[in-house]
Amino acid sequence: MSKRVRLVIFGRQGAGKGTQCALLIERYGAVHISTGDILRAAVAEGTEFGRKANEYMSAGNLVPDEVIIGIVKDRLAKDDVVAHGFLLDGFPRTEAQARALVETLGASGIDLAVNIDVPLPVVRERIAGRGRSDDNAEAVERRLQDYEDKTMPAVRWFGTIGKLVEIDGVGTEAEVFGRLTEVIDTHI
Ligand code: AMP
Repeated sequence: MSKRVRLVIFGRQGAGKGTQCALLIERYGAVHISTGDILRAAVAEGTEFGRKANEYMSAGNLVPDEVIIGIVKDRLAKDDVVAHGFLLDGFPRTEAQARALVETLGASGIDLAVNIDVPLPVVRERIAGRGRSDDNAEAVERRLQDYEDKTMPAVRWFGTIGKLVEIDGVGTEAEVFGRLTEVIDTHI
């Protein structure tokens, strides 16, 4: 049986993070915590919270830190996560979220943060080619800009606590997955 893993996965929109997370979950049996999925479920339920969240999301803006931090804290405390480990996808998105995460779990409560790096021109091309409904040009650009301005500081912050590994995200799904598992298996 593989070891329990506790991972944060970073990557720009279009970096292939969703695909790689699905493969990683299958291999390591950890709980997939996607804040985007959690928020989309709330939107679909049509709750008051969902309606508020959708205002941010449809414009390509981040929902406020305090809201999302509370949601993730609750999820991390659940038995399945404690027992099987986790793969955080889409969180943290800001340095404040990163700090809150490590405050909650302690640095030893996270094995590794992995950044799947795909350069901006490459993700722009990929996104233009797939035409998803949440891919309207303005919202895409805002998300990419937010990633540089808000999320990259969170990525770098994991570097300052010695938890960050960068992976080259250009290549086939299998190649990128191979790079990921090699790095993860040597760190856990
Ligand atoms: P994602 O599927 O991860 O791209 O998330 C979709 C949208 O949900 C994002 O564009 C944000 O509006 C919102 N969102 C997801 N995760 C977070 C987060 N950690 N902090 C703030 N907003 C988030």
